[in-house]
Amino acid sequence: MAVLRIHTIPGDEELLRRRAAEVKEFGAELRKIADDMLETLPVAQGIGLAAPQVGHSIRMVLIDISHTGTKEKPAPPPFFLVNPVILEGEGTASLAEGCLSVPGVRVEVPRKAKIRVEAQDLAGKQLAFEAGGILSIVIQHELDHLDGKLYLDRLSSLKRERLLKRLREERDAAAGKTARA
Ligand code: ZN
Repeated sequence: MAVLRIHTIPGDEELLRRRAAEVKEFGAELRKIADDMLETLPVAQGIGLAAPQVGHSIRMVLIDISHTGTKEKPAPPPFFLVNPVILEGEGTASLAEGCLSVPGVRVEVPRKAKIRVEAQDLAGKQLAFEAGGILSIVIQHELDHLDGKLYLDRLSSLKRERLLKRLREERDAAAGKTARA
């Protein structure tokens, strides 16, 4: 297992903006990527990770909301969704989302409150379930990554431009510091 580098913007647009390929083979290679993602996510302190974020342009995401559980209502352990699709959604919800690929930005993004999901597991078995609350939002966030979308795309263009400008300025400032050090 290995901790993988998380691709970020600005810089890694090529991979993050690509539509990821469907997974057709459920073998050792897929399992290896999954193991690496499992090792990477806690180090990055995230609750979700899409394979393209760590350099694999395939339709697989890892969800880990295990910390949101209580004794009475335990949250599910970390799990993978392969080739996931959202069949239907209802209601609206939002919470301040962050993204490991867009460091330093937290912003509320409009989402569906409840969704119905179909996917496969790591062995290729079909899954179907409904999700609400934070689970619904993290799944919608991660699935966007598979289509080359970032949560910033769901903001108004004015808001998005402001954020991207700030990120570029911060990056240039950091680069300046490094150059002087
Ligand atoms: Zn993200």
